[in-house]
Formats: sequence, structure tokens, C-alpha cells
Amino acid sequence: MEKILEVNDLHVTFTTYGGTVKAVRGVNFHLNKGETLAIVGESGCGKSVTSNAIMRLIPDPPGKISNGTIHFNGEDLTKIPEKEMRAKRGVDISMIFQDPMTALNPTITIESQLVEGLRQHHHVSRKDARKKALEMMDLVGIPNPRERLKQYPHQFSGGMRQRIVIAIALICEPELLIADEPTTALDVTIQAQILELFDKIQRQTGVSIILITHDLGVVAKIADRIAVMYAGKVIETGTRREIFYNPEHPYTKGLLKSVPRLDLQEDKLTPIDGTPPDLFSPPQGCPFTARCPFAMEVCDKVYPAMTELSDSHKVNCWLQDERAKQLLAETAVK
Ligand code: SF4
Ligand code: MG
Repeated sequence: MEKILEVNDLHVTFTTYGGTVKAVRGVNFHLNKGETLAIVGESGCGKSVTSNAIMRLIPDPPGKISNGTIHFNGEDLTKIPEKEMRAKRGVDISMIFQDPMTALNPTITIESQLVEGLRQHHHVSRKDARKKALEMMDLVGIPNPRERLKQYPHQFSGGMRQRIVIAIALICEPELLIADEPTTALDVTIQAQILELFDKIQRQTGVSIILITHDLGVVAKIADRIAVMYAGKVIETGTRREIFYNPEHPYTKGLLKSVPRLDLQEDKLTPIDGTPPDLFSPPQGCPFTARCPFAMEVCDKVYPAMTELSDSHKVNCWLQDERAKQLLAETAVK
């Protein structure tokens, strides 16, 4: 499979009066063409910072990509001039945020907002732009597009507004769409409809998608692969099947226990006790140690290396590492 995006050893820091926050600490993942990768984790785990780094939207200062590479179609986005990056944003790579209202201008018609995005980057006539806008309204499932184009954001429901935001993000036919918590502000039925829409858009346009969410339940239907983040690191990746049916990291298992499941109605939802570590001074060992029911002595001291459980399933946990037994024996002797 052809890779459209490859992130290697990404580090992002923020300098504050209180010290330096290590928000992203050596993140690795890739995205194949035409697939949906979900990046999942609690708030503050670095998932939004990672996506902002891909868009080169980390405010510098106080933020900084302090190390690593982000290859998009073979080109390292961390190295290109801002002018080139600006030409890619909204054109080759588009992003959708949580709150559709802040993404739309309340004083401008939907048509102008759609057309403006297109005409900013491409030389198209008003007529062709309008035709494209109508096509996009149709693609995202807005009824009566001709009349609706003349309306303003407040005349649409929250779910419809998010559909318009998606239409704007897609009008330049980007190859990569990054959606950061795109359904969090919506109620459950609308959430499901928007997720189905992503699925449909991907089938029709072949766009590659990164879906960022704190809710594993959201990705159960549409993610091809899942990367689980914790304390600025990706701690487990796998196909949707591998993560849902064969999770190996205790944190991933904990996340799954906190997701409502239709097939296990009698099961109580169990939140994970404790809080993530302070990223001003992150632990040198496994960051989950303080919350992990299986923590061993080695966990706190040494960060676990990545273990490959299959071609697609990878985990950083000492429980999966053959060397843990040996290290345990050694520490026991001392
Ligand atoms: Fe738990 Fe240790 Fe695995 Fe971390 S490395 S998740 S502390 S068993
Ligand atoms: Mg976020």
C-alpha cells in the first residue's frame, strides 16, 4: 500500500513561564492512501498537537516542532517554507475542527463561503465555482442545495453546519482530511450520521482521513487502523479488529472498558483511575506506570521498546517484551 503520510519521531514542545511542556514525545505513525486512521486518547495526550503539527499550525513561539519529520507524499512538511505550506493548507490537506460555528463566518452566505475557498486557490469562473458548490452540498447530503446556498450559518442546525464545514474542507479536493473531534459538539444521532458521511465521502472521493477523538466508540465503525496515544506518545497501533478484539496495552484495554458496547449491555463502564503524568517533567519510563494494574519495577525505569505483534499491530509495553523477564531477574538479584 502506498503511504500518503509518514510521521517519524515527532517532538513538539511549548515553552511557558512554568517551564517546557513536552506535548508530543517521539510520535511515529503512517497513513496509507485512501484509508482512515483514528488517533485516540484522553484530552492532553498530544493528539490535537500532532494534527496541528501536520498542518504546521503550531504557534511558534511558544510552540515548536523540536524534532522529527512529517512526510506528505514524500515531501517533509517540517522543512518547507511557510509560503509553500500555505498553498497546501485547505488544498492538499484540509482540517475540520470540533465546533462548526467557529469555522463558519456568520455574516456571509454559505455559497460565498464555499466559493471563496475554491476561488482563493484555483482560477475558476463564478459559474463553475457555483456548480462545484452545488455538487459539494449534494455530496455532504444537504437537501434543496439551490435555496440553501443563499442562506446564512444560523439558518442551519448543528449537524447541517458540520456538513457545510465538511463541504468547504473538501471543495478543493484535498488528498488528506484531518478531522479533530468532528462530532464531539453534536448529539448522538447526528454524530452517527456525520460518521457515515465520512465513510461515504471516502468511498466516493478516495480521500485519506485522520480522525482524532477521545472516544473509541466513535471510530468503531469507520477506522481502518487505530493509533492510541498516551502522554505524548503512540503506545499501541493496529487494525480496528486488532485494537477492539485483541488490545494488548493496559491503557487501550482500559479505554475499551470505558466505551459503551451494545453487545455487552450488562457490563458496567469502568473509567480508568488516576490521571496522566505531568508533561512538564514526563517520567523516563512507561508513562502509564502510576495507573497500570500490571506495573513492574522495570516499567518506571525504562521506556518499553516497541513490540511487533503482527505486521500492523505494535505495542510499547513491557508485558509484551521478552526481555522484561530477564530485566526483572536482574533487578531482583540487585
Ligand atoms: Fe503497565 Fe508496564 Fe506495560 Fe506500562 S509497560 S503499560 S506500566 S505493564
Ligand atoms: Mg484536542
